[in-house]
Amino acid sequence: MTLQKNRAIVLHSGGQDSTTCLAWALKKFKKVHLISFDYGQRHKKELKAAKKIAKKLNLSHKTIKLPFLSELTANALTDKTVKVKAGSESRLPSTFVDGRNMVFLTAAAIYAKQKGIPNLVTGVCQTDYSGYPDCRNEFIKSIEKTLRLAMEFPFKIHTPLMFIDKAETVRMMQKLGSLELLKYTHTCYEGRKLACGLCPACKLRLKGFRLAKVNDPIKYEPKTVPGR
Ligand SMILES: [Zn+2]
Repeated sequence: MTLQKNRAIVLHSGGQDSTTCLAWALKKFKKVHLISFDYGQRHKKELKAAKKIAKKLNLSHKTIKLPFLSELTANALTDKTVKVKAGSESRLPSTFVDGRNMVFLTAAAIYAKQKGIPNLVTGVCQTDYSGYPDCRNEFIKSIEKTLRLAMEFPFKIHTPLMFIDKAETVRMMQKLGSLELLKYTHTCYEGRKLACGLCPACKLRLKGFRLAKVNDPIKYEPKTVPGR
């Protein structure tokens, strides 16, 4: 198998961060493939967004089913009866899925190795990590080493957003000239036609755009417009 050093697999959720990583990867690598995970999310809008973006850019896109995650944990992302709650210093947000990024990266690595691709790109971020331990740089370094050992393959995990905040992520997209791609992304936890503007994910997204002084190209439910 030839090592495809100029290729990368982007872990793509259809959200803002992973789409920014995609734009970053398109500048850095000759060929980019996308992988998304269907783990029983509350709604499929994210996955639809990922498909739409892949199609727009004419990129190969694989969706992998990981249904066991929702069987293992009860949380607001996979269980409609659990309310979406922001985290605090003493409590993780109710959207937390233990080990999710670890499972995603492992699955992506197995897929990447089959294609001879060592580069994995993920939008994890320590700055806004909301208490998710497997978003931290220390974890990424550790799993990179583990995946190399597990599969004897020179994996390299790229995390272009690791040390920047949401506003800088928006500015990064602006610099990459890909702001219009964000129009197709989905962030809201609610999954209605328009984003709610009120859930923790919407709030974080809106704050980033506001601080970057850039207009968010997605549409929000009308009641949330005042005060934005
Ligand atoms: Zn929302």
